[in-house]
Amino acid sequence: MKQILIISGKGGTGKTVVTAAFASLAENKILVDCDVDAANLHLILNPESQEVHEFRSGKTAFISKDQCCSCGLCQSLCRFEAIKKDTLSDKFLIDSVSCEGCGFCALACPSGAIEMKENLSGQWFVSNTRFGLFVHAKLGIAEENSGKLVATVKQKAKELAKKNNVDWIIVDGSPGIGCPVIASLSDVDCAIIVSEPTVSGIHDAKRVMEVADHFKVPVKMIINKFDLNEDMTKKIEMFSLESNIEVIGKIPFDKRIVESVSQGKTVIENGNQDLIKCFSEIWERVKKGFFAL
Ligand code: SF4
Ligand code: SF4
Repeated sequence: MKQILIISGKGGTGKTVVTAAFASLAENKILVDCDVDAANLHLILNPESQEVHEFRSGKTAFISKDQCCSCGLCQSLCRFEAIKKDTLSDKFLIDSVSCEGCGFCALACPSGAIEMKENLSGQWFVSNTRFGLFVHAKLGIAEENSGKLVATVKQKAKELAKKNNVDWIIVDGSPGIGCPVIASLSDVDCAIIVSEPTVSGIHDAKRVMEVADHFKVPVKMIINKFDLNEDMTKKIEMFSLESNIEVIGKIPFDKRIVESVSQGKTVIENGNQDLIKCFSEIWERVKKGFFAL
């Protein structure tokens, strides 16, 4: 079983289009969306949830009004100013937005009136799709700890992959170089960077390459919309060559790609022969180049 991760230096470079195309082309696989902050692979895969799980992370303090004797100690100790006095009841209340969950107030409270409760930060799902099993997640608005959610989703995908004896785990990663990307990189056999031929595209691709290199994950490159700036495309090819990174595909700018996404289809399902050929050749290179089955 091989695990491949599709990543990009920033959002909107076409990594989900590539992941969805691989979903169409690969046999015997599990699909994963680790872009938990801005998940959108589900818009193409149209999943039917089989399992829904709550994701809890971090803690927030809660004060039991009945137990609170209004001594005010907690308010004086909270350096985040998350504890307010309710002038009506004369009791103390936690402002959950300001509370950082340090737990200091709960330790200090002489009445044992403060309890630390886990936050419900999001949900994760195991779903059926027309391409097979799909593990994905939804992080609550403004929730943090997406790295932990990514690790949870990936762990579940791995368990299912073993149980179902699949050949591939295909992961749509997060853009950038933050915590969820680092969590996505664990255990993968290869990271495929989708880059665009722009100055910022090259810069972002280099940064994400460095992160993958740091975690000793082999990297391959795909250049999307390569024909929009052939000089920049050559620059990406040059630095890929210098860094010993194979460019496994160049995808042309084609509005039928955007069209297929808006119709909830993969590029392969959209049926344009040139695009099918382009993406199929990339997938063949993934198979033959690294993980011949
Ligand atoms: S320390 Fe405990 S008893 Fe005192 S005000 Fe805070 S919650 Fe109430
Ligand atoms: S848990 Fe920490 S941040 Fe939250 S209210 Fe208590 S002392 Fe303040």
